[in-house]
Amino acid sequence: MQNATTSHTRTALVTGASRGIGRAIALRLAQDGLLVAVHYGSDAAAAQETVDLIAAKGGRAFSVGADLGSYEGVLALVEGVRAGLDAHTPDAERAGLDVLVNNAAVTSSGGRLQEETVDRFDRLFAVNVRAPFFLVQQLLPLLRDGGSIVNIGSGVTRIALADELAYAMSKGAMETFTRTLANVVGARRITVNTVAPGPTQTAALTAALAAMPQLEEMLIGGQALPWVGQPEDIADPVAFLASSEGRWITGTVIDASGGTYLGPKR
Ligand code: NAP
Repeated sequence: MQNATTSHTRTALVTGASRGIGRAIALRLAQDGLLVAVHYGSDAAAAQETVDLIAAKGGRAFSVGADLGSYEGVLALVEGVRAGLDAHTPDAERAGLDVLVNNAAVTSSGGRLQEETVDRFDRLFAVNVRAPFFLVQQLLPLLRDGGSIVNIGSGVTRIALADELAYAMSKGAMETFTRTLANVVGARRITVNTVAPGPTQTAALTAALAAMPQLEEMLIGGQALPWVGQPEDIADPVAFLASSEGRWITGTVIDASGGTYLGPKR
């Protein structure tokens, strides 16, 4: 089994772990005993809160800030992770990374076709597509054989939403990246998968639910399962893929949307 005899400190980097789904993934991986690099874009205090939540439960984590809208930000993240792992790894061990979760993304849509702007489109693709691509490129030497890469996708690649056009395209690119990269790194027993959430109750959806009470019923009406998706509902399948139990799954997209828009219920 891939990780059954692991004696080193298992480690993870979760991008965009200062809040929302990324925070839940960081907490879940720390609960599994991994030392977690909690990446954030701009909100250092929120990232520190994630680190503190992990520490309060007996886990280990450190935070690293970097704007993933630029290539320099990607390089800064790689350096920050390297330094953090070195600082937290016992002297007798060589620092390495076991799990990379590409979660950070520009999540607000740019709008419909006619409303999209070049600046917004470029920013979206820089953060959602270019950053994970070059992050993987730069982290490969640090990534241990037998490790895992999990990309956070979205149900919008399956469900056509007109006002999420550019965002959906960016998530489609990540699904292609997943499939091809799996073949590129498979010889090192590194798995690559996408977990694709549907509507998930992060702060933005909590605010929307408060402003529009009928939204909960609308969301659940479009799903097979009868509750609003929670960040933990996404973190659990990510942890599974990152564990030895997911060792034979690679190059695939796992829908974690409670069965959103599967078709008529009767
Ligand atoms: P979120 O609450 O908006 O949080 C986004 C995270 O990404 C934050 O930690 C943010 O850091 C970071 N981030 C954003 N722009 C960045 C940039 N330019 N550079 C560096 N970091 C940046 O997101 P979420 O709703 O939890 O979504 C997480 C993932 O799930 C995303 O990939 C999203 O596409 C996907 N997803 C979410 C839903 C949903 O309903 N929530 C549904 C489908 C898919 P700072 O706050 O520190 O800047």
